[in-house]
Amino acid sequence: MECPNCGAYNPEDRTQCWKCDDLLPIKKEEPKKANEPGRMGMLTWVVLIVLGAIYLFNQCAGQTLPQPTSMQAPPAPVVRPLI
Ligand SMILES: [Zn+2]
Repeated sequence: MECPNCGAYNPEDRTQCWKCDDLLPIKKEEPKKANEPGRMGMLTWVVLIVLGAIYLFNQCAGQTLPQPTSMQAPPAPVVRPLI
């Protein structure tokens, strides 16, 4: 950008003119663009966590399903006659 005070060219990342030491206007467009990917990153993380939880839940359910079936087949009850 050009210095508004003396008109000298300054790199975009500079905040002060190298020629007259006058403060350069700061552009606030880049921080806004940097925030959007951060939100998208959060959404992708949430989706990944939910998908991972569902995957783990299905795995646990598949492993715990055979256990009730085996428990539903108890040995025949032994009925002892009362004398
Ligand atoms: Zn200047």
